[in-house]
Amino acid sequence: MSHENFMEKIVSLCKRRGFIFQSSEIYGGLGSVWDYGPLGVELKRNVKDAWWKAVVHRRDDVVGLDAGILMHPNTWRASGHAENFSDILVDCRSCKKRFRKDHIGDTCPECGSKDFTDGRAFNLMMQTHLGAVEDENSLCYLRPETAQGIFVNFANVVDTTRKRLPFGIAQIGKSFRNEITPGNFVFRTREFEQMEIEYFTDPADAERIHSEWVQARFQWYLDLGIRKEYLQLRPHGADELAHYAKACTDIEYRFPFGWAELEGVANRTDFDLQQHSKFSGKDLQYQDNISGKKFFPYIIEPSGGVDRATLAFLTDAYHEETVNDATRVVLRLSKTLTPTKIAVLPLLKKNAEIVTMAKRIKADLSKSFVTVYDDTAAIGKLYRRQDEVGTFFCVTVDVDSLSDQCVTVRHRDTMAQERIQADQLKEYFVQQFST
Ligand code: ATP
Repeated sequence: MSHENFMEKIVSLCKRRGFIFQSSEIYGGLGSVWDYGPLGVELKRNVKDAWWKAVVHRRDDVVGLDAGILMHPNTWRASGHAENFSDILVDCRSCKKRFRKDHIGDTCPECGSKDFTDGRAFNLMMQTHLGAVEDENSLCYLRPETAQGIFVNFANVVDTTRKRLPFGIAQIGKSFRNEITPGNFVFRTREFEQMEIEYFTDPADAERIHSEWVQARFQWYLDLGIRKEYLQLRPHGADELAHYAKACTDIEYRFPFGWAELEGVANRTDFDLQQHSKFSGKDLQYQDNISGKKFFPYIIEPSGGVDRATLAFLTDAYHEETVNDATRVVLRLSKTLTPTKIAVLPLLKKNAEIVTMAKRIKADLSKSFVTVYDDTAAIGKLYRRQDEVGTFFCVTVDVDSLSDQCVTVRHRDTMAQERIQADQLKEYFVQQFST
């Protein structure tokens, strides 16, 4: 399968089965904004929940935060975004297409021309106005990253949680960037979600903690089923580093369009707390209550994109295989991530007793697992539909079920079937989903 073809299949499956729709499609669509449909919202929630569990709930040294998207405009002066958060854009004089200079070198990827306009800096922050008067004083930005909401709350969190270094603050939320060249489906969009951790440490420990986070974040993708040969670490060269960063390692996934960044893990030094202290006039140094030492902590930042991770999980899970001379599409999403865990299917939808039993089983399993009921096609077709969206198990109720009180459980990956007593289903699935 060619790369373009593969990407088309993913986009088409996402639309056809309700994972991802183009924004405002009935009006012709809004460029580079995407809406998550009934299955997509479940998948994306599972990605975020898995991240939150791994980095907040299962650790003693990280707490959560949910800061506003709108922040005091001085935040962006302190962070450097107001001045520096821009890409250099150039226009091809020949085909009139616009590009990010750092993406193309000296040749137009569309038409091969080398004739470009001079580069112009273009700030990626989106603006809005707060209140009724639209003037300079009411100007506000939609945040281009969630990180700053964490930095400005550093003292609040230290004061209220009594956390001692090293510790981190994690946040998931929407960010906005007026990207010049969005594209590759949800990979680069203008509205997206980030999952970021700002981990505060004594500068002496920063290098060690940086490499520990790189390993922990790499492992997270593997634990959720990404194939190892499709994942790589790429340390930044000195010329690539942001001016305040001491080190940065990207976690990259091999998308159909090539290797690309899923997440960056940076050592941001003490730049952020220094800057916010300077601009706010509040001393954001940390004082250790045992040693009495006072200093600006270094910050290690694992910063990932929810949409990019979701796209990687989707493409990695997509498989086509031939079964009985027909193509079976199966989404091999992990048990944790897959949107629907179980589908309950009646073999005969005209048999009222079978339908009643199937609906009872569905209602019961729904208390513990995301379970759906479907009777809109013949059983073979129902199985294929569930395979295509990654449903882990199908439970089929047939005529025999009415007398022997057993049902057929079919496994997505192997298509193996086994007979299980209906009243033991819950226990069976609890065990299946706990391993
Ligand atoms: P890129 O070089 O691809 O533009 P970046 O290095 O500017 O990304 P960061 O500022 O480090 O990205 O943002 C952290 C994470 O947020 C990225 O690893 C990515 O997963 C996600 N992200 C950033 N920009 C976008 C976007 N426009 N669309 C979707 N996700 C994004």
